[in-house]
Parts: sequence; structure tokens; C-alpha cells
Amino acid sequence: MNAVEIFQFFQSKGCSRLDSPKTRKGPLPKRRKKEDMELALELMACIAAIDEGVFPSFNHVKFRFMSRKSKENNVAEYCWPSEKSRESYDVFVQGLEEEILNEMRSHRLILIDEEGAMDYSCDMTPEQYAIGVAVHEVRHRQQKRTKGFRMFSKKDLARADGQLKHFIRLTEILFKTRFKCFEEQGVSAIGRKLSPIEFDAQLIEFLVQDLIHRGTSPKALLELVRLQPPIEGLLINPFFTVDFSRVLG
Ligand SMILES: [Zn+2]
Repeated sequence: MNAVEIFQFFQSKGCSRLDSPKTRKGPLPKRRKKEDMELALELMACIAAIDEGVFPSFNHVKFRFMSRKSKENNVAEYCWPSEKSRESYDVFVQGLEEEILNEMRSHRLILIDEEGAMDYSCDMTPEQYAIGVAVHEVRHRQQKRTKGFRMFSKKDLARADGQLKHFIRLTEILFKTRFKCFEEQGVSAIGRKLSPIEFDAQLIEFLVQDLIHRGTSPKALLELVRLQPPIEGLLINPFFTVDFSRVLG
């Protein structure tokens, strides 16, 4: 399946979940651009479906459509329950279309072969970007909800192989670049934005986008979202079945 087919698959599955009376869904904010609202619904449906795939029997989570902008310029966020609110996925509706287009333009997928010899980058499609966002947020829930959950970190670079090694390195480079930019711009809470939790979620997002780019199934994608590094031994991405001639045409 390609990115559009996977996105449509998740979106159609998630829509029914958003409509379910059991789901506590906040009202859609009024006076928002139609395109933003539609995109917010599509993105949330995708999150709902991936969440259900990863947590089939643990789906008491709230889906909130926020009319305010995210404090951290995110299009979506996973929120751990607090005294004030329940556990939730939040999608920020205001200016969503523009935000997604901007993000997409600034993201390019960089691929490399098993020997790390070939570099290839391609533009991301909106569907691919949206699936990446959804996966990233569900990964955050998994980090919190799975007892003893093992996250990937830059320490894993030494025992990583092939494609996994490439993406750990890429995440590290991305975080170093972001750190510099945040410092220059005087951004607050840099530690939280570049925390181990974010590192792990970003790595999985990269791996998933890469997998989609090569053509994958929703099932393989969900397995990748659940992936934990083994306690010891080499790290090999079990999903690395690339035919580069196909990717490069
Ligand atoms: Zn995150």
C-alpha cells in the first residue's frame, strides 16, 4: 500500500471510533476555516485508528479539537492525564492546513542503503506527513502506558545496524541542529523539546515514514510503532526489506 491508501485505511477505521458514543470528543471549534476542520478530523481519525491498533483493549482516551494554537507550535499532542484533564490526543485546528503545508515543505525524507553508501531524498506527501504525526503521538502514549517500556536512544547507535543506524544518526543530527536553533532563538524548555522521549518518538516517526515510502501494510506499520530495542545484542530493523531499484525508479 502507498501513503494515500494507508492514510485512507486508518482514517476510515478511525472515523467510526470518533463517532462512537463511548468516545469523549470535544465539540469542534466554531469559526474555523473549513479546510482546517476537515484536516483536523482526518488527522484525528488517523490517530484514533493507530491508537486502537496499538491499544486494542485500552482505548479510554479523549480526542480533543483545540481552537487555540499549540504552545509549542505542534499540530497534535498527546497529553498525559492530570488533575485538570483526562488523558487525551489534542489536534490544533487553527491554521492547521498552513501548518501542515509548511512542515511538509521543510521535511525531506533521507534514505540510505544498508552499507550507508547511497543517499537519496524525496519530498513527503501530506498523507505521509499526517501518518508520521499520528504515529509520533501514539508512540508517546505507549512510552507512558507500557510498563518497563524500552525507548531507543542515541546510545543505541553503537549496536545498531544498517537502516536503523542511519535513522538514529539522523535523529541525533536533527536534535543537535534544533538545539542550536532553539538556543539562538532563545526558545524556552529546550530540554523537554529535545528529551529522550522525543528522541524515541522522532526515530519511530522517521522509520515509519521510510517504511511507507517503500510501500507497506498497516499491520507492519503498527508493529513498528510497538517496536522496542532488545535488552542486548545487535539492533537490526526487522522491517528492512528494501528494493532500492524500486525506490529510485
Ligand atoms: Zn513528541
